[in-house]
Amino acid sequence: MIRAVELIERKRDGEEIGQSDIRELVLAYARDEVPDYQLAAFCMATYFRGLSSAETYALTEAMIQSGATLDLGDELGRKVVDKHSTGGVGDKTSIAVAPIVAACGVPFGKMSGRGLGHTGGTLDKLEAIPGFRVELTREEFVQQVREVGVAIISQTADLVPADKKLYALRDVTATVENVSLIAASIMSKKIAAGADAILLDVKVGDGAFMKTEEDARLLAQTMLDLGNRAGRQVVCLLTDMSQPLGRAVGNGLEVGEAVETIRGEGPHDFAELVLDACARLLALSDLGVDESEGRTRAEAAVADGSALAAYERWVRAQGGDPHPRALPRAPVVHHVPAPRAGTVEDLSAIAIGRAALHLGAGRAAKDDVVDHAVGVVCLRKRGDTVTTGDALAEVHARDEQRAGEAAADVAAAYTIGDGEVAHRPLVLDVLV
Ligand code: URA
Repeated sequence: MIRAVELIERKRDGEEIGQSDIRELVLAYARDEVPDYQLAAFCMATYFRGLSSAETYALTEAMIQSGATLDLGDELGRKVVDKHSTGGVGDKTSIAVAPIVAACGVPFGKMSGRGLGHTGGTLDKLEAIPGFRVELTREEFVQQVREVGVAIISQTADLVPADKKLYALRDVTATVENVSLIAASIMSKKIAAGADAILLDVKVGDGAFMKTEEDARLLAQTMLDLGNRAGRQVVCLLTDMSQPLGRAVGNGLEVGEAVETIRGEGPHDFAELVLDACARLLALSDLGVDESEGRTRAEAAVADGSALAAYERWVRAQGGDPHPRALPRAPVVHHVPAPRAGTVEDLSAIAIGRAALHLGAGRAAKDDVVDHAVGVVCLRKRGDTVTTGDALAEVHARDEQRAGEAAADVAAAYTIGDGEVAHRPLVLDVLV
């Protein structure tokens, strides 16, 4: 019988706990043999005391053992690659990367999550596509990756059930923001979903979980270590999330921008990140190419239309209508004018994320219904020059009142000044 109180006490006092004790605690919690209040206390002790790398690995392993696992590589007889972003504002990268990689001949099967708070989730974005089904069975998922080359679905219920329970508990006990807990939560799901090689995109900035580069680096290194210990190849990008990625923020708007990018007509920063991610995924795959050749192939798939064809095949396979005209449109669109001439010195990602959230594009609570049509399009980004009255952004809203409120919030997200704006690269670093 697990003595949860002893483990809580030992963690509270800063002791390192044995790997088998951690495993037993997590598995007993998953079986409902340890109550929420004891795991909540353990998470809070962990929040303050931290976990060693051995403890973090034991936690990750236990979460994986709490449910079923998938070996996609084995099922397909191919090396399978996956990508994961820690989440940000306007991050629709997977929707563009998946069909480009598939068009280059590399199977891409991904299980994704929903958004909570100001960061969006890939599943909510995909559900903006009329008819798109995110809930496939494991057999349908494997079959689609095999036959169509690409599938993005919601995590199946039997995969890492301990994380589902623990994440919900952390969410309401102010214990989400701990590097070990976040790393174990993300990597348990990635490892259980069966990819051989994983590209991680750790976002850093006011629109991300990790506000400083130092914290982001620590999270990246912790996830790399967990992946390597589990025998997976991992590459981790640290990318800027101090302003929104691309222009569009909001589910249908973001899918539209992802399709533009797949056609080669996307905004420069977003297109650059998509092609960089594709190049790295192709280099991790079994094609036997390096990053430079991967980049050439990804660019070619965009230029010759094969990436767009792969997108259309993928969306149809999951029941959706791939035509951008089918995406929902908000009835009210307001422009946000520049209050003065100058240069955009700052565009706060979190402020834009919150404005989109208040328009209804995201969830403040788990059961909120998402409005797929609404959002913000940032026409001007950091470093752009404007004259008075130029449109800084568009607000896409359900009604006039919400459009007006959001326009004020979006205007406040912009800082316009007269100074030079230092260039901040989107990819801040790459860890392997
Ligand atoms: N995303 C996850 O999946 N888990 C966390 O703990 C934080 C972000």
